[in-house]
Amino acid sequence: MYDTIFSMELPVGEHIKLLRNRISNTEDIKNSSRMSIVTGIHGDEMEGQYICYELTRRIENERDKLKGVVDIYPAVNLLGLDNAIHTIPKERLDMNHIFPGSPDGSMMERVAYALIEDIAGASVCIDVHGSDIFTRESLQVRINEEFAAGLMEYAKLMPANLIWKNPCPSVAASTLVHSMNCIGVPAFTVECGVGNTINTKYGDRIVDGIFNVMKYFGIWEGEAVHHDDTPVCDDSSIDFMRADKAGLFINSMNKFGRVKKGQCIGKIIDVNKNEVVQEIIAPNDGILFTVREFPMVYEGALLARILVQEVEK
Ligand SMILES: [Zn+2]
Repeated sequence: MYDTIFSMELPVGEHIKLLRNRISNTEDIKNSSRMSIVTGIHGDEMEGQYICYELTRRIENERDKLKGVVDIYPAVNLLGLDNAIHTIPKERLDMNHIFPGSPDGSMMERVAYALIEDIAGASVCIDVHGSDIFTRESLQVRINEEFAAGLMEYAKLMPANLIWKNPCPSVAASTLVHSMNCIGVPAFTVECGVGNTINTKYGDRIVDGIFNVMKYFGIWEGEAVHHDDTPVCDDSSIDFMRADKAGLFINSMNKFGRVKKGQCIGKIIDVNKNEVVQEIIAPNDGILFTVREFPMVYEGALLARILVQEVEK
């Protein structure tokens, strides 16, 4: 059932809304385990939209196995989604930098505040992201170092390719997940894919992971999907590869996974001079999990991330 959690009139006569799809077999919400699935904080990230559909479809197929409450917030940055842009339109502000919001603040600060208030008291919260248009991401769970000890057992339930501790700014102080953890709701971020596209394989794996978490909290009595142990890393165990020169990035990697020291990840070409200005070479053996998607680059642009070693779990 869709409920309007927040509504505000816009000067143009339209309304900004925050919607929640509550799926439950009980009236006793307060004393039930409750999971919150949030997506659409960034309006160009589409995997979350697919996940809202697929999660609902799979629950409804076996509705009798649902024992708690699943709250889905499909479109937090509604105007961003309407325009398929990452930020809040006009303000050009990253919505994941305005949490916990304010009841008296700007329009979107009020939306952020209403979301926090509505999720408060939940058993767990998962914020689903789908990367931006600039980088393609392998499926990963991101958690804040400050809360990592308490979150790790939930993070491991997601069939991700890695768990990344403290990837600022994804989980920093102004984000939804940080605000939720601060008020005692275990919360983590899932990241994958590339902006304005849907990778259904990643989407299906995330939904599998959501069912694992539901089962852990007694919200689901159906089957859950087993997955292998996921590597855990932090910034110290990742090679960040950046552009030294402006130009066009030509990607040599057609898939994520293992790379060898010395392997060519791609190159930057200067079309006006018809020359290669930088070759991007893996400095160590590792696992490629991020690669540049948007070809135009400036000095300092992120080109790739390679996991070179695991850290203690
Ligand atoms: Zn995002």
